[in-house]
Parts: sequence; C-alpha cells; structure tokens
Amino acid sequence: MSAPRTTAGTLVETPEQQALRRAVADLAARFGPAWFQAKARAGEYADELWAEAGKLGYLGVNLPAEYGGGGAGITELAIVLEELGAGGCPLLMLVVSPAICGTVIARYGTEEQRRRWLPGLADGTRRMAFGITEPDAGSNSHRISTVARRDGDDWLLTGRKVFISGIDHADAVLFVARSEDARTGRLRPSLFVVPRDTPGFEYRAIPMELVAAEKQFQVFLDDVRLPADALVGDEDAGLLQLFAGLNPERIMTAAFSIGAARRALDTAVDYARTRTVWDTPIGAHQGIAHPLAQCAIEVELARLMTQKAAHLYDAGDDLAAGEAANMAKYAAGEAACRAVDQAVQTLGGNGLTQEYGLAALLTVTRVGRVAPVSREMVLNYVAQHTLGLPRSY
Ligand SMILES: Cc1cc2nc3c(=O)[nH]c(=O)nc-3n(C[C@H](O)[C@H](O)[C@H](O)COP(=O)(O)OP(=O)(O)OC[C@H]3O[C@@H](n4cnc5c(N)ncnc54)[C@H](O)[C@@H]3O)c2cc1C
Repeated sequence: MSAPRTTAGTLVETPEQQALRRAVADLAARFGPAWFQAKARAGEYADELWAEAGKLGYLGVNLPAEYGGGGAGITELAIVLEELGAGGCPLLMLVVSPAICGTVIARYGTEEQRRRWLPGLADGTRRMAFGITEPDAGSNSHRISTVARRDGDDWLLTGRKVFISGIDHADAVLFVARSEDARTGRLRPSLFVVPRDTPGFEYRAIPMELVAAEKQFQVFLDDVRLPADALVGDEDAGLLQLFAGLNPERIMTAAFSIGAARRALDTAVDYARTRTVWDTPIGAHQGIAHPLAQCAIEVELARLMTQKAAHLYDAGDDLAAGEAANMAKYAAGEAACRAVDQAVQTLGGNGLTQEYGLAALLTVTRVGRVAPVSREMVLNYVAQHTLGLPRSY
C-alpha cells in the first residue's frame, strides 16, 4: 500500500498530529487489511490490534491525562480512526468507547466514575458500548421509551434497544433512558452505565451484511437494577450531556468514512496505474481517471470539514461544532459511498473479489450514510438550523 495521497494534513495539522498520523498508519500496516478482514469474516474481534493500539496510547488519546489518557482531543482520536481505516483496519468501537462514553464520563461523570472507567477506556483494557437507538423510535430519539424509575436509592431500567455495536466485547453499555423529573413529572433523557453481566440485561446479535470487527445487537432491559451511581451526570441536564457525546460520535463517524474512502481510492489508483487491457494502463483513460479525481476532491473536502468540526469541538464551541459535525458526517458519508463505488468499478471483476477487499467496503461505507444519524436527518438539521427553513416533521 502506498502512502496516503492527501496533503491537507500538512496544511492544518501540527507536527505532533502529523507524527501521530504516520505512527498509526505504521501500526495499521503491521496488521493489514487481509488480517483484519479474515478476523471479521471468522466472527472474531481484532483484539491484537485493539490491545496494541491501547498500549501505544492511541485509543485514549482524547481522554484527560490525569486518568491515563493522552490529554489531546477529538481531532487526534479522529486521526487515529482515519488512519486505521485508510490502512484497512477500521475499529468502529473507537467511535463509541473513547469518543462517546469516555467524553461523557470525563465531562459529566463524578470523580469516582472517572477513576473507575477512564483509565481502562484509555488503555483499551475496558470497553464501553453506547445505546440510544430503539426499534420504535428510530431517528426520533425524542421518542425513546426506555424508562429509568427510582426504587429507593436504586434505579430500575426497562426497555429495548437495537443496532447497538460491540456489546459482546464491552464491559458495560452507556444507555440513554428517560427518567421522570421529580418537579415537573416530565420525562428527560438520562445516561446510565450498565455492566454487561447485570441481571435482566440480555442481548442478541443481529445478522448483518457487514465485514466488520463489531457486531450489532438487539437489547432487552427488564427491570435492570442499578445502584444510584450508575447515573452519569445530572438528571436534569439530559440533552446537553447527551450532545457532548453525540458530536464526537458524528466527527468520528466522518473519520471512519474518510478512512474507508482513502483505502478504496488507494487500492483503485494502484490498480489503475498498472492494469493494462489495451495498450495503456486503464488509469490513462479519462473515463477511469476523472471519476477517481473527483472522488479524491470530495474526500479531501469532507476531511477538511471533519477537521473543522473536530477543532471547534476541541475548542469548546459545542454549538458550532454541532453544525460542523453534522455537515462533516454527511459529506464524508456521501464521499465514501461514491469513492468505494468508483473503486469497485475501476477494478472490474476484481472489485468484487475478497482478495482486494473492496466489495466489503460497499456495505461498510453505507453505515456512514445511516448512522449515527441518517443523511436525511442531517439535511433536516441543516435546512432548519443553518438555513432557517420551516420544519417538515
Ligand atoms: C452498523 C450500525 C451500527 C450502529 N451502531 C449503533 C450503536 O452502537 N448505538 C446506537 O444507539 N445505534 C447504533 N446504530 C443505529 C443507527 O444510529 C440508526 O440505524 C440510525 O439512527 C437510523 O435509525 P433507524 O435505523 O431506526 O432508521 P429510521 O429512523 O427508521 O429511518 C429510516 C429512513 O427514514 C428516513 N427518515 C426518518 N425520519 C425522517 C424525516 N423526518 N425526514 C426525512 N427522512 C426521514 C431516515 O433518514 C432513513 O433513511 C447503528 C446502526 C448501524 C447500521
């Protein structure tokens, strides 16, 4: 695999960030796409890569240094995920464990919760999944019906979740539920850490057409009894706390898409340079070269937007970061789907073989269009919040 053909990194990244990029790319190259896809097809987790990335400090690069993290930001964590993806070893769990759960606990957890969870999330010895999506609520998270009721000092959690990634390899799940506001009686979103072995918490794998390290699960919560300190953050600050985790999730999903897109483009360009069917390499035909060039521009633009969103988030501007993160997730999801489609086309029949690993990216990159928020919901957001158009739903 050749070096990344992109230059934006040198424009806006510090020397430390560029060094991180190179180091993570080296790590991904040591494992490689063939190893990664063989693991995924065998239904195994990429544990060796995860452990090594943890040991090298990449998994918790965004978490506070006093709890074992790297003390950097989402900018750096996005670099890690993008480079792993560009090297053919994308670890979707980075979106969830350090980016959402680690961020929420670091920002809103108690000192005890931070000490309990962050060092393990930072070095990768512990993992936390995240569950908001519900079968009956879907994109409308305001309609989630998983309820947390008080029972003495304890909480009782009841509800259902769907498409929750990586539960089988997680120590716990950070669930979004609704609790009742004691003063108004209204239901508010609240966040609870639920260890995987808690009685009443069951999960079942959903068969997915994805070649990925992580599986997705349906979850059943039946009067799951939790101690008072399972609640993360303030019961009253629900949405604000939630978005502290959801903006990093969007930025990281964008990085995931960009990594896959770069992987696809690199594979296609290498192939188009050498594959000769008539008298010249196929890459000399503009019918092959121009669409690839167009994809490279779109990926680069999406990457720039992702860097902007990450910088805004790390600078503490949550509001601006929200808009940029939505735009970045949209742009990266679209660019990745087009890049993979064009890469598959460039390889002809080889685009569909397991050897080149491109066909698997067709479904993987679709994830960036659907999750964690669909492209239609991003368009709704931009139409309303950026353009000030009336809401249609
Ligand atoms: C691989 C994968 C991993 C995932 N991991 C997690 C995870 O770890 N944790 C988690 O909580 N969730 C996870 N999800 C769930 C994901 O966030 C949801 O699938 C996503 O939010 C969409 O919800 P839905 O599937 O219910 O689609 P729906 O909400 O049913 O939407 C279906 C379609 O209708 C469109 N639509 C809905 N409402 C509108 C509207 N008002 N205007 C225009 N169009 C609309 C949508 O855009 C979409 O195209 C994952 C999903 C996938 C595929």
